[in-house]
Amino acid sequence: MKVKIFVLLFFLCANISCYAEEVKSAWQPELRIGVMENLKNATIVANRDCIFFAGNEKVRIFKGEVLAIILTDENIEVKGKKFDGNLWEIRTEDPRELKTLVLRINGKSYRGGLRFIRKKDAMTAINVTPAEEYLRGVVPEEMPPLWAKEALKAQTIAARTFALKNRKRHEKDGYDLCDKVHCQVYAGAVREHENTDIAIKETYGEVLFALPNGPIIDTPFHTDSGGMTENNEDLWGRGIPYLRAVKEIEEKTKPWTKTVSLFEFEKKAGISGVKKIELSPLTIGKRYTDRTKSGRVKNIRIVSAHKTKFLTGAELRAMFNLNSTLFDIELKGKTVEFTGYGIGHGVGMSQWGAKALAESGKNYREILEHYYQKTFIKKLY
Ligand SMILES: [Zn+2]
Repeated sequence: MKVKIFVLLFFLCANISCYAEEVKSAWQPELRIGVMENLKNATIVANRDCIFFAGNEKVRIFKGEVLAIILTDENIEVKGKKFDGNLWEIRTEDPRELKTLVLRINGKSYRGGLRFIRKKDAMTAINVTPAEEYLRGVVPEEMPPLWAKEALKAQTIAARTFALKNRKRHEKDGYDLCDKVHCQVYAGAVREHENTDIAIKETYGEVLFALPNGPIIDTPFHTDSGGMTENNEDLWGRGIPYLRAVKEIEEKTKPWTKTVSLFEFEKKAGISGVKKIELSPLTIGKRYTDRTKSGRVKNIRIVSAHKTKFLTGAELRAMFNLNSTLFDIELKGKTVEFTGYGIGHGVGMSQWGAKALAESGKNYREILEHYYQKTFIKKLY
């Protein structure tokens, strides 16, 4: 009897969890991406029938029809009719069909709908699109689509996690994210690639959370760490358990050099008559008082006849437009020579590092665990 009850309970629970899965998978957040500012008018062509919504009023738009939208001081004009208000939207009547809609606005294509908000005497165009369709225009911009598949999948999850973590970042502008480097570069439906589409499909809804119970994490990434990533607190903020310095399988990658004249160096550094520049030698993964755990420059000491001045690695990177802060520096007569490795700030995932790990046989879960320690992947929808 006990066994029977157990079996019955098992099936009951299994059914409930099955139902929960279904409900979950039906939900996919819509993201609002600011794509065009200061529009006075727009020409729009849709790939399927859809609707122009103005408050309670609707205008049907047919597939292939060339639609002109004109903003005037009082209202907006569409198909010869005038509509009041400050917010208008083109989308499918049924929200589940939104992902099948592609709108071309002033020559550029976007998946999903378009919302227009009046700002004084112009409009902002906002692409309202399901999160997974948005990623199709982001991932190929962030990583070359011909790179190893597992690296593309890791990049996809980093991009999806960033987007969901930073929703409402541009709330004051009327949307979630912009389409520029400030948030993530988003090219709409113009630069999609089969390989990144597959990476997105195979990681559908997967997002990174911090152990044990969340929250959803920050996923900074950079081009190439040069050998070891950086503890985040050595660059910004307080220490975050999942943004730790980790070694790469290859060291001293992406070598670079930069030579500047002593004249330019003194001018930019704000010190004259430089006699000596002091910095411990670079050993990747070795901390000195003037270098962080990964070997990046914390500060250098510049000595002249009359004074001593300290400059941080970040200051030098900005001053001389250096690829990274992982470098040695040497005063050679009338020039100053930087010899370094890597590209970017060094916190979180290294994209070239992810590529190397993928090519060595690691899967995307292992790659993400490597760069974002003590985190787990959760399927959100
Ligand atoms: Zn932004």
